[in-house]
Amino acid sequence: MKNYNTGRQSRYLMVVSMTLLPVLSLVLITIFFFFHPIFAKMEFIADTVYEEIRPIRGLQMALIVSMMAPNDFLLHGNMEEKKIWEQSKDEVDHYFIMLINNPAYAAEKRKLLLLREEWDKCILLGDQLFQVKDSGVVFKSAADLMEKFDLSVETLAGDLDSFATYRESAVRSAYHTIHALKTKTIIATLGAILLGLISGIFGSIWLAKSRRKMLEFMTKDALTGAYNRRALDDALHILNEDKIAFSVLLLDIDNFKSINDMHGHDAGDSVLRSFVEGTQNVLRTDDLFGRYGGEEFLILLYDTNLNHAAVLAERIRRSVELTPVFIPSSGAHLSLTVSIGCAASDGLIPSEEVVRKADKAMYMAKQSGRNQVRLAE
Ligand code: GH3
Ligand code: MG
Ligand code: MG
Repeated sequence: MKNYNTGRQSRYLMVVSMTLLPVLSLVLITIFFFFHPIFAKMEFIADTVYEEIRPIRGLQMALIVSMMAPNDFLLHGNMEEKKIWEQSKDEVDHYFIMLINNPAYAAEKRKLLLLREEWDKCILLGDQLFQVKDSGVVFKSAADLMEKFDLSVETLAGDLDSFATYRESAVRSAYHTIHALKTKTIIATLGAILLGLISGIFGSIWLAKSRRKMLEFMTKDALTGAYNRRALDDALHILNEDKIAFSVLLLDIDNFKSINDMHGHDAGDSVLRSFVEGTQNVLRTDDLFGRYGGEEFLILLYDTNLNHAAVLAERIRRSVELTPVFIPSSGAHLSLTVSIGCAASDGLIPSEEVVRKADKAMYMAKQSGRNQVRLAE
């Protein structure tokens, strides 16, 4: 049979778009609604950690380190420690300047300046500790001074903690937000894929159904459900083109006009339907059964020689003869007979020629008294 593929590409495009569109649109929505806030939060975390928290923690570390030099000097009297103390002071100062000039600390600038003043006091204490040995201050006073220095520096470092902790909690909450957005993104993506699959499956089913309906509409006879003349002609054309061997049975219901005349046109219609249904039961699945016109039918038997075609024709003739047709409108049972002409092609004879031969044979059957099978010469 000819493959009716009109609009096939556009149907595939429809299925593809049914599957891909929901996925693509949801992915775009995901990007705008989830990825954008995720990236914004990540940027916020990076800025907060690197620009704001790191210098505070650096300053705290520098303060703790700065405490060591005066302490070590007092314990061991090594003048090298003085150099380390000077370096530490520079380091702490460097961090203070960095923080005071950081726009992120604009609101806390005053507090930082106050803390820097505290540091200046610590410097004085630290410097004093380096003079303890030279000035011959007694040990007790040196210990007190050291304790005071240590406590001042530790308090200063502790005061700086609040600057970092509330920023760290903001970073933690940003992490939580990112985690929640990631979960939502995964759910949305899976949902998009599922939706795409569902709409793809339903779309394919719908398209297959509509394609089947379309094919039925184009190839089937509305009254009997057998193939129509167009389908038969297409099949004959393909057989001819592909040089396939086949046989043809041309069937013509005997005295059909008298059924119409005696029982009405509707009864005639229902006889045609019953004839098709009964004949279809005798045929093999590969045989193509179609209405050639009026009460004439054509059966195409692929790869079947004339002898086998004759056997099948005789089986059909007998089945029609032995099966009275029920007329629903009158409740009557009518006997029916059919005349059949058979012809065969080896694949080289033009199909119109084969049909003509079958028609001739059918005519011979009519001439010889109807209800019989005749083979073409
Ligand atoms: P023969 O044995 O020589 O074939 O006689 P016949 O009466 O069957 O043949 P004829 O060609 O004289 O009449 C065929 C009739 O079939 C005429 C037409 O009205 C009828 N017919 C054709 N198509 C339909 C149809 O769809 N429904 C009905 N009810 N009748 C139809
Ligand atoms: Mg006829
Ligand atoms: Mg007839």
